Amino acid sequence: MHVVHLYPREMSIYGDLGNTRTLAARIRRHGYSPVVHQHHPGGRFPEQAHLVLGGGGQDSGQVRVEADLEHISDRLRALARSGAPMLMICGMYQLFGNAFITVDGTRLPGLGILDVTTHGNAKRMIGPVVLTTELGDVVGYENHSGSTTLGAGQAPFGTVRAGFGNNGTDRTEGARTANVIGSYLHGPILPANPAIADHLIGLAAELATGRPFEPELLDDAIAHEARNRQVRRLVRR
Ligand code: GLN
Repeated sequence: MHVVHLYPREMSIYGDLGNTRTLAARIRRHGYSPVVHQHHPGGRFPEQAHLVLGGGGQDSGQVRVEADLEHISDRLRALARSGAPMLMICGMYQLFGNAFITVDGTRLPGLGILDVTTHGNAKRMIGPVVLTTELGDVVGYENHSGSTTLGAGQAPFGTVRAGFGNNGTDRTEGARTANVIGSYLHGPILPANPAIADHLIGLAAELATGRPFEPELLDDAIAHEARNRQVRRLVRR
């Protein structure tokens, strides 16, 4: 299964690299073979891609990857259309939207795969998060100045139960279109929420093999306990 990590040098803060490691480890535990590609600015995008990942970064990191992202945009859009699962966190989530307008007014155009628009603010949204999503309760950690608005008809990734989410006002978090998920959640998100990892792996397995995903039963007791504790600590019932 070919996994492509976009811009691991520029866009991989708050442990987002852990998402790639989690996927590689779980793909192996499910009995498949992962091939992890790191895509750097100016590099050749891998021929095969069954799962694409991107992480968070400083505004300056986003500026550094912008030209390359434009260069590989047709390929990424085609992959998204063909159903390749993708997980874009924070800074890369913003760049998978229509645009990120930084706090000093610089407009970084995005891919428009997700119908979201982000404006940088002087105030940052920082702290632990709990979401309700179609994939169950999700926990993570956010740190962004960008305030994101969903276009009409754009589904969020989840509903905020604790934390700020896209903008601190409408209780939406992230965005989800077909198999593409964008989210502000670091943590990193996948080791803390193995259900999301397996959702992505299942889709990628079907794409890679042309057959239904055959998962192994994995022991995620520690991840579940950690997640439940974060939910109990942050959500008042
Ligand atoms: N630079 C962006 C912001 O502050 C993204 C931050 C991040 O990826 N953590 O909104």
